[in-house]
Amino acid sequence: MKKFTYNRAENVAEAVKYASNSGVHFIAGGTNLIDLMKEQVERPDRLIDITRLPLREVQEQAGGGLRIGALVSNAALAEHPLVRERYPLLAQAILAGASPQLRNMATTGGNLLQRTRCMYFYDTATACNKRNLNSGCAARTGINRQHAILGHSPACIAVHPSDMCVALAALEATVLVEGPQGPRTIPLADFHRLPGESPERDTALQAGELITAVELPPEGFPSHSHYLKIRDRASYAFALVSVAVGLKLEGEHITEARLALGGVAPKPWRVSAADEALRGQLIGKRSFAQAAEQLLHGAEGFEHNRFKIELARRAIIRACEEAAKGTAQ
Ligand code: SF4
Repeated sequence: MKKFTYNRAENVAEAVKYASNSGVHFIAGGTNLIDLMKEQVERPDRLIDITRLPLREVQEQAGGGLRIGALVSNAALAEHPLVRERYPLLAQAILAGASPQLRNMATTGGNLLQRTRCMYFYDTATACNKRNLNSGCAARTGINRQHAILGHSPACIAVHPSDMCVALAALEATVLVEGPQGPRTIPLADFHRLPGESPERDTALQAGELITAVELPPEGFPSHSHYLKIRDRASYAFALVSVAVGLKLEGEHITEARLALGGVAPKPWRVSAADEALRGQLIGKRSFAQAAEQLLHGAEGFEHNRFKIELARRAIIRACEEAAKGTAQ
């Protein structure tokens, strides 16, 4: 591992000031960054330890929403009474990811920033535009079973690995950041980038910006939500396809719907036309299949992952059916 300088920030302003130089990374749980450093994929000059910053609270907001500090652990968030009661979709998604040990260490901010698990990204002997721009993409002609069917570009076909972010996308969360130019908010839908011709950048964060919190709006779909994760083995595996669904029902009719997909694109995948396709419809396979068509519009696979298109279509229908039955307790 390359040698680096270590500093511990005592407040947010100090952390941002440290990070205004290039080659600087924030570190909190370190559950992804340390792996990347061991593999020489990330080679920071300086690490800024942010674990002492006062960002560990989950606070109810005046209008009924929730503010989640960036350092709240994934485990604490999934077990928080307000999350379990009002945003069970988020708790389900978090508990579907990683292992208990990792969830104890991993933070909310870090979960947003985790990098793809494309195996070529971690293998410095292979071509990878995300790791080394303009070197090529070994996955396009290699083993691409885990890769994207939506949102990919000729430069990169990697998927975003988070479960938590898929639920946050369906819940229309907002990310709060602090940077050299002051604070700003970024809708979660705009936080993660599509690769285009610059796959080295995963997010909309600017240099030196620190995630301080994530805010959830008041509507959490507590009565009718479901997170469905399809993976190769039952635990501690990344999603081949995942679906987050929140529904509001009046009798048999859907009055509001939110759908998001994971494991299929470089960011949590949302299509507003899919939500609209369900509004006013009767619950049932026919309505859910129409929403699936909207969500998967334009899907295109590669040699080993074309199966994901049909898998995703079936997973969307099943997740909607489960959500319509009522949130599992
Ligand atoms: Fe790298 Fe993206 Fe290609 Fe994977 S899919 S090898 S991350 S460029």
